[in-house]
Amino acid sequence: MSQAQPLIIDVHGHYTTAPAALGAWRDLQIAALKDPSQKPDPKALKISDDELRESIEKNQLRLMKERGSDLTIFSPRASFMAHHIGDFETSSTWAAICNELCYRVSQLFPDNFIGAAMLPQSPGVDPKTCIPELERCVKDYGFVGINLNPDPSGGHWNSPPLTDRHWYPIYEKMVEHDIPAMIHVSTSCNSCFHTTGSHYLNADTTAFMQCLQGDLFKDFPTLKFLIPHGGGAVPYHWGRFRGLAQEMKKPLLDEHLLNNIFFDTCVYHQPGIDLLTKVIPVKNILFASEMIGAVRGIDPQTGYYYDDTKRYVNATENLTDEERFLVYEGNARRVFPRLDAALKARGR
Ligand SMILES: [Zn+2]
Repeated sequence: MSQAQPLIIDVHGHYTTAPAALGAWRDLQIAALKDPSQKPDPKALKISDDELRESIEKNQLRLMKERGSDLTIFSPRASFMAHHIGDFETSSTWAAICNELCYRVSQLFPDNFIGAAMLPQSPGVDPKTCIPELERCVKDYGFVGINLNPDPSGGHWNSPPLTDRHWYPIYEKMVEHDIPAMIHVSTSCNSCFHTTGSHYLNADTTAFMQCLQGDLFKDFPTLKFLIPHGGGAVPYHWGRFRGLAQEMKKPLLDEHLLNNIFFDTCVYHQPGIDLLTKVIPVKNILFASEMIGAVRGIDPQTGYYYDDTKRYVNATENLTDEERFLVYEGNARRVFPRLDAALKARGR
C-alpha cells in the first residue's frame, strides 16, 4: 500500500515535561521510605487539566507540529520509573500516578497522543505483580503497549534474562491483549553506567543478545519486543550477531528473531540512520524520536536538533517512499494492533 502522505507515528515518547508537582510528590515518597509516617497520599498530588495542557502544548505538541509528526505513543518518563527505589508498593503507587497522567494527556489530545504503560516493577519481586496495572492501562486507559524494564535494579542486572520463565506471566498477558513491549531500562544507580549514554544502550544490546541465545519466540510466536535507541549496538554489529547465532546453531536471525523484534529510529545522526536502514529489514524499523529526552541540544554540524530524527529518515537514500510509509505508519500499525484499531475507530 502506498500513500502520498503517511501518518507520522512516533512510537517512543515519554512525559518528560510533566508539571513540577509530580517530581515534588515523588521526592516526598522517596523521603518517606525512611519514615513511613510521612508517606504522601496520591490524592495530595493535584495537577489540573490546564497544567497538563500547557506542559504538552509548549513542548511535545509544539515540536510535533514544527517537525510534522502526527501521533506519539506516550509513556511515563523512563528515567523517573526508577524501579530500584523502595519496594513493590512504592513502584505500584508511583506507576499508577504516572500512567494516569499519560492517560489524561491522551484524553486531552486524542489525535496526538496514545498511552503506553510503565509497569510497577521492583527488584526481586515476581513480575506477575505487574499484571493488575498492565490490565488497568489496557482496559481502562486504552493503552497500546508497555515498557518492560529488563533490569529493575537500575544497573546491577540481577534479574534473570528476558528469555527466562520468570518473565512469562507478563508475556502471557502481552499475547492475550496483543500489545508489544518496548524493552526500556530506567535510571542507572551504578556509577559505572551513565543512564542514557551507556545503561540504555547496553540494555538494548543485552536484550537482543538474550533473545538470540534463547528460544523465547518458540514459546511465544506472536510476542513482540521493540528495542529502542536504534537497537543499541545491534545494527552496527549485525555481522557479529549473525556469526554468534551461527556458532550457537540457531536459525538465521530473520527467522530466529525478526518476526518478533523491532527497532526504533532514536539514533541522533544521519550516518546512524543510514546504517540502521541499510542493515535491518525495513519491516523491522519503526519511526521514533524520543523527544524531549536524553539529547535536547542542536547539532552544530546541521543546525537542527539531534532528536529531530524525521529529517534523517526523510533524507536517507536507503528507503523508497513505500518503505518510508512502512517506517512512519505501516509498521507501527502492525506492531501495535491496538493502536491500529484505535486509529481506525477514529476514521484514520
Ligand atoms: Zn525512552
